[in-house]
This record gives sequence, C-alpha cells and structure tokens, in this order.
Amino acid sequence: MRKCFATTLLLLIGCILLLAAGPLQASATTEQLFWEKASQEIYKSPGELKAQHEREIRKGEIYIKLMQGDPHIKAVALTFDDGPHPKFTSKILEILRKYHVNATFFVVGKMAKKYPKLVEQEFIQGNLIGNHTYDHYNLTKIPDPEVDVQWQKGNEIIRSITGIEPMYCRPPGGDYDRGVIKSAMMHGLTTVLWTDDPGDYANPGDKTIENRVLDRIADGSIILIHDGIQQTIDVLPQIIETLQKKGFKFETVAEMAAAGHPEALRMRYPITSMRPAASLPPNTLKMK
Ligand SMILES: [Zn+2]
Repeated sequence: MRKCFATTLLLLIGCILLLAAGPLQASATTEQLFWEKASQEIYKSPGELKAQHEREIRKGEIYIKLMQGDPHIKAVALTFDDGPHPKFTSKILEILRKYHVNATFFVVGKMAKKYPKLVEQEFIQGNLIGNHTYDHYNLTKIPDPEVDVQWQKGNEIIRSITGIEPMYCRPPGGDYDRGVIKSAMMHGLTTVLWTDDPGDYANPGDKTIENRVLDRIADGSIILIHDGIQQTIDVLPQIIETLQKKGFKFETVAEMAAAGHPEALRMRYPITSMRPAASLPPNTLKMK
C-alpha cells in the first residue's frame, strides 16, 4: 500500500514537472523566434524611404537625418554596411586606396569587436566609421530600452577602436520610427539613409550591380552597398572608374553633411532634452 502511494506521488510530481517545463520551453522558443525575426534585414527601397520622409514632414516630425547630399554638387558617397568582414574588408580597402577614394563604413558592433584591426585600418585610411547597431536587429521590432543599448554599445566599440565618438548611424534595413531616431539623436547620432540601392546583398550579378548603380546615379547620391559580397568587390573598381571619369567626387557622409553642401537633405528635430548642440554634427542645427 505504502509502495503504491509512493509511486502515485512520484507520478504526480513528474506530471507537475512536465506541466511546468512545457510553458518554460515554449517561452524560450518564443523568445528565440522573436530575436531571430528581429535579426532579419529587409531593405526599404529609396522610394519607401522618401515616402516615409514626406509623411514625417506632413505630420510635422522633423528628425536629424541625412537622406542625400546636395543635389547641386557633383559628389557621391559610397556606404558599406554590415562589416567588418575578415575575408572582404581588406580587399575593399585596397580598391579604395588605389583610387584615392574615401567611403563610409557602417559597422556592426559585434563584428567590430571581433575584428577591431579591420575597423582600425578603415579609419586610418581616412574612411568614416558609422554605427550600424551592435547586434544588427530591426530596431522597430525590439523594445525601446534595447534600441538604446544597440546604439550605445555600437558607439562604445567604435570609440574604443578609433578614439572618436561616432556621429553617424544607419538602422539595419533603413527601418526606423520616431523612437529609433530619437534614441539615435540622444546618442549624438545623425541617421543616414540612401538614395541608391543596387541590391548587392542578393548577389544579382556583377553587371546588374554596376548597371543599377550607374543608371540611378545623381549629384548627391548616397550608395548603399555591402561589406561581405564578392560581386560588389568585383565590380567596385569599374564603378569608381566610371564615376571618376564622369567627374564625380567621392565623399564620406560627414563631408556630404558639411557646410559646403547647403542643400543636403538633412533635418533638425527640436527636442529640448537632446544632448547639447556641441555633440551634434557640425551645422546640423543651422538647418531649417
Ligand atoms: Zn545591415
């Protein structure tokens, strides 16, 4: 009888444990799925970015961001997202050196932590280093405090390598909302978007990347390409040569946002709790 009671008790405890473990396991999976989903990067097209910009203007929301350079100045900006990459970054730097071109690298914090020497080389060569978050999540899909962490940790790792506080950032996929851009501004960051996206991340072929970049190029273009794509490296010399022959100057986004570009599309959002003006990019506050 006692044995029977003990067995029943053991079975009961087992059932309780199983019931308790079920939801725990389910919640771990749900959390994993949440962060995995937030890691997926689906790029907004230049048209979608422009439409969002126009919606903001209609609603009176004006943020500190750079959409494009001055459309009256023959200059373009090459921007490389998602690096540094152990296999590709050095090759990109070699090409940029050869053509005396500086670009902007929007680095992912956790990659920069893994490969600090590559970020240092980018910086020493005269390129601008921007913050592309620490973990590369879609910032509109994660809680607000985590958005702050992403900008802050991204800034910290770049500062630890270059000794300089980053002033420009790009949200993964170009996905931002009021909270995301406000958080970036609180960290002294101007959000940089793009006007040209050849879709190199999908490996459409060297010629397609080249044609898409060159067909859409205009004065003040900000070109979105990626560190980590072989086709981009294969076609980069040709793109630079063609644009140089056409008389385009290559600038970093900081140069593009500077005083010499009075009509660069950048905006100020007047939030009084922002960091002091001194920590914001030069001339940003002079904009209308
Ligand atoms: Zn990215």
